[in-house]
Amino acid sequence: MDSNKILNSIKSRLPKLFHINLKSSILIFSLIKLLFIGVSIFHCHWQKDPDLIPTPVSIEKDLQKSNHLEWIKIKESVWIHRSFGEFGGQIYSANGLVVLTNKGVVVVDTPWTESQTEELFSEIQAKFQKEILYVIVTHAHDDRMAGVSLFQNRNIPIYSTNLTAKLAKERGFGKTNPILDLQTRLGAGNQSVEVFYPGPGHSADNIVVWLPDTHILFGGCFVKSLDAKDLGNTKDANLEEWENSLKRVLARYPDAEVVVPGHGDWGKLDLLRHTIRLLVAANH
Ligand SMILES: [Zn+2]
Repeated sequence: MDSNKILNSIKSRLPKLFHINLKSSILIFSLIKLLFIGVSIFHCHWQKDPDLIPTPVSIEKDLQKSNHLEWIKIKESVWIHRSFGEFGGQIYSANGLVVLTNKGVVVVDTPWTESQTEELFSEIQAKFQKEILYVIVTHAHDDRMAGVSLFQNRNIPIYSTNLTAKLAKERGFGKTNPILDLQTRLGAGNQSVEVFYPGPGHSADNIVVWLPDTHILFGGCFVKSLDAKDLGNTKDANLEEWENSLKRVLARYPDAEVVVPGHGDWGKLDLLRHTIRLLVAANH
């Protein structure tokens, strides 16, 4: 083959080679783009749900974060106070409520540690300039009651059911005022707060809190968030009765617009149905 033939042969292939390269470039560009979209979706999800990654690797970072409460506004008058605590060597978040009224605020559950409870006091004063009328504790576990003694020191009434008061005393969580019955309506300035004992579930004594003015249902640890893959701490749970207890809440509050679980993101009534699915899976 002389040099002219070789040159011609290269020339005739050039457009084809270029064509293939262009196609490959588009393909590679599209793949990179897809990868970027995938990473950003994963990243958003990750950021939204700190509960999904309570891995030992992130404990150091989470512990720093655990010194500080997070505030999540649900409605003009209702906020979640989110604290952080350790369970089984991992860090989890826990939700409680702050309900604003024209007379002061109602707190549902104390933060998970005493230092975060101090922070709750100072931030309620700084953010809302209101006194705390009372705190309701929804069962006798430390993610609900760790700050009880600080409420006591400030002479803020701590309301619970009889059973929670008894269990709290046995477990060293402090003294509560057992004024709550199976179903009790409490006044709170221009709003009211209802508590309801649905039967055993996450614990023998778990109650839910209903805010009739805003249609918000605080399920506490009795209700799991949608991203929960299991029932969490079931040490004191009643796995046989929990489903029936959930159905009582579904029947009683069909018009709940917001449901707040003990841990993780708030949502709607499907959180209760999700908890039932987890129970069905756990019981089989
Ligand atoms: Zn609990």
